[in-house]
Amino acid sequence: MRRMRNVKIVATLGPASDDYDTIRRLFELGADVFRLNMSHGSHDEIREWHGIIRNIEQEIGRPIAILADLQGPKLRVGVFAGDSEVLVDGDKFRMDLDEAEGTSSRVRLPHPEIFQALKPGATLLINDGKIRLRVEQCGEDYADCVVVTGGTISNRKGVNVPDVVLPVAALSAKDKRDLEFVCELGVDWVALSFVQRPEDVIYTKELVAGRAAVLSKIEKPSAVEAYDEILEVSDGIMVARGDLGVELPVQAVPPIQKRLIRGARKAAKPVIVATQMLESMIESPIPTRAEVSDVANAIYEGADAVMLSAESAAGQFPFEAVSTMDAVAVEVENGQVYRDIIESARHVDRKTTADSIVASAREIAENTGVKAICCFTHSGTTALKTARERPRVPILALTPFTGTARRMCLSWGVNCFMTNGDVSRFKMAVVSAARAARAGQFANSEDNIVVVAGVPFNIPGSTNILRVAPCDERLIFNTDPE
Ligand code: PEP
Repeated sequence: MRRMRNVKIVATLGPASDDYDTIRRLFELGADVFRLNMSHGSHDEIREWHGIIRNIEQEIGRPIAILADLQGPKLRVGVFAGDSEVLVDGDKFRMDLDEAEGTSSRVRLPHPEIFQALKPGATLLINDGKIRLRVEQCGEDYADCVVVTGGTISNRKGVNVPDVVLPVAALSAKDKRDLEFVCELGVDWVALSFVQRPEDVIYTKELVAGRAAVLSKIEKPSAVEAYDEILEVSDGIMVARGDLGVELPVQAVPPIQKRLIRGARKAAKPVIVATQMLESMIESPIPTRAEVSDVANAIYEGADAVMLSAESAAGQFPFEAVSTMDAVAVEVENGQVYRDIIESARHVDRKTTADSIVASAREIAENTGVKAICCFTHSGTTALKTARERPRVPILALTPFTGTARRMCLSWGVNCFMTNGDVSRFKMAVVSAARAARAGQFANSEDNIVVVAGVPFNIPGSTNILRVAPCDERLIFNTDPE
Protein backbone atom coordinates (compact mmCIF):
# COMPACT_ATOMS: atom_id res chain seq x y z
CA MET A 1 0.00 0.00 0.00
CA ARG A 2 2.64 2.48 -1.11
CA ARG A 3 1.64 6.16 -1.09
CA MET A 4 2.23 7.94 -4.40
CA ARG A 5 2.99 11.30 -2.77
CA ASN A 6 5.47 12.79 -0.32
CA VAL A 7 3.32 15.22 1.66
CA LYS A 8 1.57 13.53 4.60
CA ILE A 9 -2.09 13.66 5.59
CA VAL A 10 -3.18 14.17 9.22
CA ALA A 11 -6.80 13.16 9.95
CA THR A 12 -8.51 14.20 13.18
CA LEU A 13 -10.72 11.53 14.76
CA GLY A 14 -14.12 12.29 16.27
CA PRO A 15 -17.72 11.12 16.24
CA ALA A 16 -17.66 10.69 12.43
CA SER A 17 -14.61 8.42 12.59
CA ASP A 18 -14.64 6.57 15.90
CA ASP A 19 -14.77 2.91 14.89
CA TYR A 20 -12.33 0.35 13.50
CA ASP A 21 -13.80 0.17 9.99
CA THR A 22 -13.80 3.93 9.49
CA ILE A 23 -10.30 4.47 10.87
CA ARG A 24 -8.92 1.61 8.78
CA ARG A 25 -10.57 3.01 5.64
CA LEU A 26 -9.19 6.49 6.41
CA PHE A 27 -5.72 4.94 6.63
CA GLU A 28 -6.18 2.99 3.40
CA LEU A 29 -7.36 6.10 1.57
CA GLY A 30 -4.34 8.09 2.69
CA ALA A 31 -4.28 9.20 6.35
CA ASP A 32 -0.71 8.84 7.63
CA VAL A 33 -1.18 10.41 11.08
CA PHE A 34 -4.25 10.37 13.33
CA ARG A 35 -4.92 13.38 15.55
CA LEU A 36 -6.73 12.89 18.84
CA ASN A 37 -8.20 16.18 20.01
CA MET A 38 -8.03 16.40 23.81
CA SER A 39 -10.53 19.30 23.77
CA HIS A 40 -13.27 16.83 22.89
CA GLY A 41 -12.56 13.14 23.50
CA SER A 42 -12.86 11.56 26.97
CA HIS A 43 -9.94 9.47 28.24
CA ASP A 44 -11.96 6.30 27.58
CA GLU A 45 -12.59 7.34 23.96
CA ILE A 46 -8.95 8.33 23.45
CA ARG A 47 -7.82 4.96 24.85
CA GLU A 48 -10.20 3.12 22.51
CA TRP A 49 -9.09 5.05 19.39
CA HIS A 50 -5.45 4.58 20.34
CA GLY A 51 -6.03 0.81 20.62
CA ILE A 52 -7.78 0.67 17.24
CA ILE A 53 -4.91 2.52 15.52
CA ARG A 54 -2.29 0.28 17.10
CA ASN A 55 -4.24 -2.80 15.97
CA ILE A 56 -4.43 -1.52 12.40
CA GLU A 57 -0.73 -0.75 12.52
CA GLN A 58 0.02 -4.34 13.50
CA GLU A 59 -2.28 -5.81 10.87
CA ILE A 60 -0.76 -3.84 8.03
CA GLY A 61 2.81 -3.98 9.39
CA ARG A 62 3.51 -0.31 8.93
CA PRO A 63 4.05 2.41 11.56
CA ILE A 64 1.26 4.97 12.02
CA ALA A 65 1.75 8.17 14.02
CA ILE A 66 -0.69 9.29 16.72
CA LEU A 67 -0.76 12.98 17.60
CA ALA A 68 -2.50 14.08 20.81
CA ASP A 69 -3.54 17.74 20.64
CA LEU A 70 -3.77 19.36 24.09
CA GLN A 71 -6.49 21.94 24.61
CA GLY A 72 -4.10 24.49 26.12
CA PRO A 73 -5.02 27.44 28.32
CA LYS A 74 -8.20 28.34 26.41
CA LEU A 75 -10.08 31.25 28.03
CA ARG A 76 -13.87 30.99 28.31
CA VAL A 77 -16.65 33.22 29.68
CA GLY A 78 -19.03 31.81 32.34
CA VAL A 79 -22.73 31.13 31.83
CA PHE A 80 -25.71 33.42 31.25
CA ALA A 81 -29.04 33.42 33.10
CA GLY A 82 -30.81 32.91 29.76
CA ASP A 83 -27.96 30.87 28.17
CA SER A 84 -27.17 33.71 25.72
CA GLU A 85 -27.37 37.48 25.23
CA VAL A 86 -27.13 39.79 22.22
CA LEU A 87 -24.42 42.48 22.40
CA VAL A 88 -25.05 45.59 20.32
CA ASP A 89 -22.34 47.85 18.81
CA GLY A 90 -21.54 50.76 21.14
CA ASP A 91 -22.99 49.08 24.28
CA LYS A 92 -21.01 48.85 27.50
CA PHE A 93 -20.17 45.33 28.68
CA ARG A 94 -18.27 44.23 31.79
CA MET A 95 -16.14 41.12 32.34
CA ASP A 96 -15.54 40.28 36.01
CA LEU A 97 -14.93 37.54 38.57
CA ASP A 98 -18.48 37.64 40.03
CA GLU A 99 -19.92 34.11 40.11
CA ALA A 100 -23.46 35.33 39.39
CA GLU A 101 -24.93 34.30 36.02
CA GLY A 102 -24.34 36.70 33.12
CA THR A 103 -26.72 39.40 31.84
CA SER A 104 -26.77 41.77 28.87
CA SER A 105 -24.35 44.07 30.73
CA ARG A 106 -21.82 41.66 32.29
CA VAL A 107 -20.45 38.12 32.46
CA ARG A 108 -17.90 36.21 34.51
CA LEU A 109 -14.42 35.66 33.04
CA PRO A 110 -12.97 33.18 35.54
CA HIS A 111 -9.30 33.99 34.92
CA PRO A 112 -8.02 36.53 37.53
CA GLU A 113 -4.57 36.63 35.91
CA ILE A 114 -6.09 38.09 32.74
CA PHE A 115 -7.41 41.17 34.53
CA GLN A 116 -3.94 41.82 35.87
CA ALA A 117 -2.48 41.77 32.35
CA LEU A 118 -5.16 43.83 30.58
CA LYS A 119 -4.64 47.48 29.71
CA PRO A 120 -7.13 50.10 28.45
CA GLY A 121 -7.26 49.85 24.65
CA ALA A 122 -6.74 46.04 24.61
CA THR A 123 -9.06 43.97 22.42
CA LEU A 124 -11.10 41.00 23.63
CA LEU A 125 -12.44 38.65 20.95
CA ILE A 126 -15.30 36.28 21.70
CA ASN A 127 -16.73 33.31 19.80
CA ASP A 128 -14.03 32.83 17.17
CA GLY A 129 -13.55 36.58 16.85
CA LYS A 130 -17.14 37.26 15.83
CA ILE A 131 -17.63 39.63 18.77
CA ARG A 132 -15.06 42.35 19.42
CA LEU A 133 -14.78 44.34 22.68
CA ARG A 134 -12.35 47.17 23.52
CA VAL A 135 -11.23 47.56 27.13
CA GLU A 136 -11.99 51.10 28.38
CA GLN A 137 -11.07 50.70 32.00
CA CYS A 138 -9.86 47.78 34.08
CA GLY A 139 -8.86 46.75 37.57
CA GLU A 140 -7.79 43.63 39.48
CA ASP A 141 -11.13 41.89 39.06
CA TYR A 142 -12.96 43.58 36.21
CA ALA A 143 -12.68 45.04 32.71
CA ASP A 144 -15.21 47.58 31.48
CA CYS A 145 -15.48 47.31 27.72
CA VAL A 146 -17.27 48.89 24.81
CA VAL A 147 -18.78 46.61 22.16
CA VAL A 148 -16.99 47.33 18.86
CA THR A 149 -18.66 44.49 16.93
CA GLY A 150 -21.75 42.96 18.49
CA GLY A 151 -23.39 39.56 18.16
CA THR A 152 -24.78 36.71 20.22
CA ILE A 153 -22.69 35.64 23.20
CA SER A 154 -23.60 32.36 24.88
CA ASN A 155 -22.44 30.07 27.69
CA ARG A 156 -18.70 29.25 27.88
CA LYS A 157 -17.76 30.88 24.57
CA GLY A 158 -14.01 31.17 23.98
CA VAL A 159 -12.18 34.45 24.53
CA ASN A 160 -9.01 35.54 22.71
CA VAL A 161 -6.79 38.38 23.93
CA PRO A 162 -4.55 38.96 20.93
CA ASP A 163 -2.41 41.91 21.89
CA VAL A 164 -1.34 40.90 25.38
CA VAL A 165 1.21 38.25 26.42
CA LEU A 166 -0.91 36.49 29.01
CA PRO A 167 0.56 35.48 32.36
CA VAL A 168 -0.99 32.03 32.07
CA ALA A 169 0.83 28.74 32.48
CA ALA A 170 1.62 26.80 29.30
CA LEU A 171 -0.51 23.91 30.55
CA SER A 172 -3.77 24.05 32.50
CA ALA A 173 -4.53 21.44 35.18
CA LYS A 174 -6.58 19.56 32.55
CA ASP A 175 -3.66 19.70 30.09
CA LYS A 176 -1.32 18.22 32.68
CA ARG A 177 -3.72 15.35 33.38
CA ASP A 178 -4.22 14.78 29.63
CA LEU A 179 -0.49 14.97 28.96
CA GLU A 180 0.37 12.32 31.54
CA PHE A 181 -2.49 10.14 30.27
CA VAL A 182 -1.42 10.23 26.60
CA CYS A 183 2.28 9.82 27.41
CA GLU A 184 1.50 6.72 29.43
CA LEU A 185 -0.83 5.46 26.71
CA GLY A 186 1.99 5.87 24.19
CA VAL A 187 1.35 8.59 21.63
CA ASP A 188 4.08 9.75 19.23
CA TRP A 189 3.45 13.47 19.07
CA VAL A 190 1.97 15.91 21.58
CA ALA A 191 0.71 19.23 20.17
CA LEU A 192 0.87 22.21 22.51
CA SER A 193 -1.88 24.81 22.00
CA PHE A 194 -1.54 28.58 22.51
CA VAL A 195 2.23 28.50 22.88
CA GLN A 196 3.37 32.01 23.77
CA ARG A 197 7.07 31.64 24.52
CA PRO A 198 9.88 29.07 24.13
CA GLU A 199 9.71 28.41 27.89
CA ASP A 200 6.21 26.91 27.37
CA VAL A 201 7.72 24.25 25.11
CA ILE A 202 10.75 23.64 27.32
CA TYR A 203 8.49 23.12 30.34
CA THR A 204 6.24 20.69 28.42
CA LYS A 205 9.24 18.74 27.18
CA GLU A 206 10.42 18.33 30.76
CA LEU A 207 7.07 16.76 31.66
CA VAL A 208 7.02 14.61 28.51
CA ALA A 209 10.55 13.40 29.32
CA GLY A 210 11.22 11.87 25.90
CA ARG A 211 8.02 9.80 25.79
CA ALA A 212 6.76 11.72 22.72
CA ALA A 213 7.90 14.47 20.37
CA VAL A 214 6.48 17.94 21.05
CA LEU A 215 4.90 20.05 18.32
CA SER A 216 4.16 23.76 18.87
CA LYS A 217 0.90 25.14 17.51
CA ILE A 218 1.54 28.67 16.29
CA GLU A 219 -1.70 30.55 16.88
CA LYS A 220 -0.75 33.60 19.01
CA PRO A 221 0.89 36.82 17.76
CA SER A 222 3.49 36.41 20.52
CA ALA A 223 4.37 32.96 19.13
CA VAL A 224 4.76 34.40 15.63
CA GLU A 225 7.12 37.03 17.06
CA ALA A 226 9.16 34.47 19.02
CA TYR A 227 8.97 31.89 16.21
CA ASP A 228 12.71 31.31 15.76
CA GLU A 229 13.22 30.63 19.47
CA ILE A 230 10.10 28.44 19.68
CA LEU A 231 11.17 26.48 16.60
CA GLU A 232 14.59 25.86 18.09
CA VAL A 233 13.14 24.05 21.13
CA SER A 234 10.24 22.30 19.33
CA ASP A 235 10.30 18.99 17.44
CA GLY A 236 7.65 20.16 14.96
CA ILE A 237 5.30 23.03 14.12
CA MET A 238 1.60 23.40 13.32
CA VAL A 239 0.33 26.46 11.48
CA ALA A 240 -2.92 26.58 13.51
CA ARG A 241 -4.77 28.90 11.16
CA GLY A 242 -8.05 28.79 13.10
CA ASP A 243 -6.98 30.72 16.18
CA LEU A 244 -4.21 32.50 14.26
CA GLY A 245 -6.91 34.06 12.06
CA VAL A 246 -8.79 35.22 15.14
CA GLU A 247 -5.82 36.65 17.00
CA LEU A 248 -4.44 38.36 13.89
CA PRO A 249 -6.22 39.85 10.88
CA VAL A 250 -7.08 36.98 8.48
CA GLN A 251 -5.02 38.57 5.73
CA ALA A 252 -1.92 38.18 7.93
CA VAL A 253 -2.25 34.38 7.93
CA PRO A 254 -0.97 33.51 4.38
CA PRO A 255 2.39 35.33 4.71
CA ILE A 256 2.84 33.91 8.21
CA GLN A 257 2.08 30.41 6.88
CA LYS A 258 4.84 30.85 4.28
CA ARG A 259 7.32 32.11 6.86
CA LEU A 260 6.59 29.30 9.32
CA ILE A 261 6.91 26.60 6.66
CA ARG A 262 10.17 28.06 5.36
CA GLY A 263 11.65 28.26 8.87
CA ALA A 264 10.64 24.73 9.83
CA ARG A 265 12.01 23.28 6.60
CA LYS A 266 15.32 25.05 7.11
CA ALA A 267 15.49 23.60 10.62
CA ALA A 268 14.61 20.10 9.28
CA LYS A 269 11.52 19.88 11.52
CA PRO A 270 8.10 18.79 10.26
CA VAL A 271 5.43 21.45 9.75
CA ILE A 272 1.67 20.85 9.44
CA VAL A 273 -0.72 23.28 7.76
CA ALA A 274 -4.04 23.02 9.60
CA THR A 275 -7.65 24.18 9.70
CA GLN A 276 -10.38 24.80 7.15
CA MET A 277 -8.40 23.11 4.38
CA LEU A 278 -11.52 21.40 3.01
CA GLU A 279 -14.09 22.99 5.34
CA SER A 280 -17.01 22.77 2.91
CA MET A 281 -16.54 18.98 2.79
CA ILE A 282 -18.01 18.78 6.30
CA GLU A 283 -21.33 18.95 4.46
CA SER A 284 -20.49 18.43 0.81
CA PRO A 285 -18.89 15.47 -1.00
CA ILE A 286 -16.93 17.84 -3.23
CA PRO A 287 -14.64 20.71 -2.21
CA THR A 288 -14.67 24.29 -3.43
CA ARG A 289 -12.05 25.22 -6.02
CA ALA A 290 -10.56 27.66 -3.50
CA GLU A 291 -10.09 24.85 -0.95
CA VAL A 292 -8.35 22.67 -3.52
CA SER A 293 -6.08 25.61 -4.28
CA ASP A 294 -5.37 26.10 -0.58
CA VAL A 295 -4.30 22.46 -0.12
CA ALA A 296 -2.22 22.64 -3.31
CA ASN A 297 -0.54 25.87 -2.25
CA ALA A 298 0.44 24.46 1.15
CA ILE A 299 2.08 21.57 -0.72
CA TYR A 300 3.83 23.93 -3.17
CA GLU A 301 5.09 25.90 -0.17
CA GLY A 302 6.81 22.74 1.07
CA ALA A 303 4.63 21.72 4.04
CA ASP A 304 5.38 18.28 5.47
CA ALA A 305 1.71 17.59 6.15
CA VAL A 306 -1.78 18.93 5.53
CA MET A 307 -4.50 18.39 8.12
CA LEU A 308 -8.20 17.62 8.28
CA SER A 309 -10.06 18.74 11.41
CA ALA A 310 -13.87 18.66 11.50
CA GLU A 311 -13.86 17.29 7.92
CA SER A 312 -12.75 13.88 9.22
CA ALA A 313 -13.83 14.21 12.86
CA ALA A 314 -17.41 15.37 12.56
CA GLY A 315 -18.20 15.77 8.86
CA GLN A 316 -20.48 13.74 6.63
CA PHE A 317 -17.74 12.89 4.11
CA PRO A 318 -14.51 11.91 5.93
CA PHE A 319 -13.47 9.40 3.21
CA GLU A 320 -14.03 11.87 0.40
CA ALA A 321 -12.02 14.50 2.32
CA VAL A 322 -8.98 12.21 2.69
CA SER A 323 -9.26 11.05 -0.95
CA THR A 324 -9.45 14.66 -2.11
CA MET A 325 -6.29 15.61 -0.21
CA ASP A 326 -4.53 12.55 -1.58
CA ALA A 327 -5.59 13.30 -5.17
CA VAL A 328 -4.56 16.97 -4.93
CA ALA A 329 -1.16 15.97 -3.51
CA VAL A 330 -0.50 13.40 -6.24
CA GLU A 331 -1.47 15.88 -8.96
CA VAL A 332 0.68 18.70 -7.52
CA GLU A 333 3.73 16.55 -6.85
CA ASN A 334 3.72 15.02 -10.33
CA GLY A 335 4.10 18.40 -12.01
CA GLN A 336 7.35 20.07 -13.04
CA VAL A 337 6.13 23.32 -11.47
CA TYR A 338 6.19 21.64 -8.05
CA ARG A 339 9.76 20.42 -8.61
CA ASP A 340 10.85 23.88 -9.74
CA ILE A 341 9.32 25.56 -6.68
CA ILE A 342 10.45 22.99 -4.14
CA GLU A 343 14.02 22.94 -5.45
CA SER A 344 14.34 26.71 -5.70
CA ALA A 345 13.33 26.92 -2.02
CA ARG A 346 16.12 24.58 -0.91
CA HIS A 347 17.90 27.06 1.37
CA VAL A 348 19.79 24.60 3.49
CA ASP A 349 22.47 25.61 5.92
CA ARG A 350 24.70 22.52 5.79
CA LYS A 351 26.92 22.52 8.84
CA THR A 352 27.62 18.87 9.58
CA THR A 353 28.97 15.76 7.87
CA ALA A 354 25.45 14.30 7.94
CA ASP A 355 24.09 17.40 6.14
CA SER A 356 26.63 16.96 3.35
CA ILE A 357 26.18 13.21 3.08
CA VAL A 358 22.40 13.46 2.67
CA ALA A 359 22.87 16.30 0.15
CA SER A 360 25.20 14.04 -1.82
CA ALA A 361 22.65 11.22 -1.64
CA ARG A 362 20.03 13.58 -3.05
CA GLU A 363 22.38 14.67 -5.83
CA ILE A 364 23.20 11.07 -6.76
CA ALA A 365 19.47 10.37 -6.90
CA GLU A 366 19.01 13.38 -9.19
CA ASN A 367 21.79 12.40 -11.58
CA THR A 368 21.55 8.62 -11.71
CA GLY A 369 18.77 6.10 -11.82
CA VAL A 370 18.84 5.05 -8.14
CA LYS A 371 15.35 4.24 -6.90
CA ALA A 372 15.50 5.27 -3.22
CA ILE A 373 17.58 6.85 -0.49
CA CYS A 374 17.72 4.48 2.49
CA CYS A 375 18.91 5.97 5.77
CA PHE A 376 19.64 4.24 9.02
CA THR A 377 18.50 6.45 11.82
CA HIS A 378 18.25 6.28 15.61
CA SER A 379 16.66 9.55 16.66
CA GLY A 380 15.31 10.21 13.16
CA THR A 381 17.64 13.15 12.55
CA THR A 382 19.30 11.66 9.45
CA ALA A 383 15.88 10.98 7.92
CA LEU A 384 14.75 14.54 8.73
CA LYS A 385 17.87 15.99 7.13
CA THR A 386 17.27 13.82 4.05
CA ALA A 387 13.65 14.98 3.91
CA ARG A 388 14.82 18.61 4.09
CA GLU A 389 16.65 18.02 0.81
CA ARG A 390 13.27 17.11 -0.77
CA PRO A 391 14.88 14.48 -3.08
CA ARG A 392 13.17 13.22 -6.23
CA VAL A 393 13.24 9.58 -5.08
CA PRO A 394 11.52 8.05 -2.04
CA ILE A 395 13.24 8.16 1.36
CA LEU A 396 13.30 4.93 3.36
CA ALA A 397 14.04 5.46 7.06
CA LEU A 398 15.27 2.28 8.75
CA THR A 399 15.32 2.24 12.52
CA PRO A 400 15.27 -0.29 15.34
CA PHE A 401 13.05 2.04 17.40
CA THR A 402 9.27 1.92 17.02
CA GLY A 403 8.91 5.42 18.48
CA THR A 404 11.30 6.90 15.91
CA ALA A 405 9.55 5.07 13.05
CA ARG A 406 6.14 6.37 14.14
CA ARG A 407 7.27 9.97 14.62
CA MET A 408 8.81 10.01 11.16
CA CYS A 409 5.38 9.33 9.63
CA LEU A 410 4.69 13.06 9.88
CA SER A 411 7.70 14.05 7.77
CA TRP A 412 7.70 14.79 4.06
CA GLY A 413 8.53 11.77 1.92
CA VAL A 414 9.73 9.50 4.72
CA ASN A 415 8.68 5.84 4.50
CA CYS A 416 9.44 4.10 7.78
CA PHE A 417 10.71 0.56 8.23
CA MET A 418 11.67 -1.29 11.38
CA THR A 419 15.01 -3.09 11.29
CA ASN A 420 14.57 -6.20 13.35
CA GLY A 421 17.51 -8.16 11.94
CA ASP A 422 21.18 -7.80 12.71
CA VAL A 423 22.36 -4.53 11.21
CA SER A 424 25.35 -4.09 13.44
CA ARG A 425 27.58 -4.67 10.41
CA PHE A 426 27.40 -2.50 7.33
CA LYS A 427 26.94 -5.34 4.85
CA MET A 428 23.85 -6.54 6.73
CA ALA A 429 22.55 -2.97 6.84
CA VAL A 430 22.81 -2.71 3.05
CA VAL A 431 21.05 -6.07 2.71
CA SER A 432 18.20 -4.98 4.97
CA ALA A 433 17.87 -1.65 3.08
CA ALA A 434 17.65 -3.55 -0.22
CA ARG A 435 15.05 -5.91 1.27
CA ALA A 436 12.96 -2.99 2.55
CA ALA A 437 13.16 -1.25 -0.83
CA ARG A 438 11.99 -4.39 -2.63
CA ALA A 439 9.32 -5.29 -0.07
CA GLY A 440 7.87 -1.78 -0.18
CA GLN A 441 7.89 -1.90 -4.01
CA PHE A 442 10.28 1.03 -4.20
CA ALA A 443 12.82 -0.98 -6.20
CA ASN A 444 13.39 -4.42 -7.71
CA SER A 445 16.47 -6.63 -7.94
CA GLU A 446 17.85 -4.87 -11.02
CA ASP A 447 17.78 -1.45 -9.37
CA ASN A 448 20.28 0.48 -7.30
CA ILE A 449 19.66 2.37 -4.06
CA VAL A 450 21.70 4.84 -2.00
CA VAL A 451 22.39 3.78 1.58
CA VAL A 452 23.29 6.38 4.22
CA ALA A 453 24.42 5.26 7.69
CA GLY A 454 26.65 5.93 10.65
CA VAL A 455 29.34 3.33 11.29
CA PRO A 456 29.87 2.00 13.91
CA PHE A 457 26.12 1.54 14.43
CA ASN A 458 24.20 2.47 17.59
CA ILE A 459 25.91 5.85 17.98
CA PRO A 460 23.33 8.57 17.32
CA GLY A 461 24.47 11.48 15.15
CA SER A 462 27.38 9.61 13.55
CA THR A 463 26.24 9.57 9.90
CA ASN A 464 29.49 9.09 7.99
CA ILE A 465 28.95 6.66 5.11
CA LEU A 466 27.22 6.67 1.74
CA ARG A 467 27.04 3.62 -0.50
CA VAL A 468 25.36 3.17 -3.87
CA ALA A 469 24.28 -0.45 -3.66
CA PRO A 470 22.51 -2.99 -5.84
CA CYS A 471 19.17 -4.33 -4.67
CA ASP A 472 20.22 -7.85 -5.58
CA GLU A 473 21.41 -9.48 -2.36
CA ARG A 474 23.82 -11.82 -4.13
CA LEU A 475 25.66 -8.83 -5.56
CA ILE A 476 25.82 -7.18 -2.15
CA PHE A 477 27.29 -10.31 -0.57
CA ASN A 478 29.83 -10.65 -3.36
CA THR A 479 30.99 -7.07 -3.45
CA ASP A 480 30.51 -5.36 -0.10
CA PRO A 481 33.10 -5.03 2.64
CA GLU A 482 32.00 -6.26 6.08
C1 PEP B 1 -6.39 25.93 15.03
O1 PEP B 1 -6.71 26.83 15.79
O2 PEP B 1 -6.22 26.12 13.81
C2 PEP B 1 -6.16 24.58 15.55
C3 PEP B 1 -5.65 23.62 14.82
O3 PEP B 1 -6.44 24.35 16.86
P1 PEP B 1 -7.80 23.74 17.43
O4 PEP B 1 -8.38 22.87 16.37
O5 PEP B 1 -7.38 22.99 18.63
O6 PEP B 1 -8.62 24.92 17.74
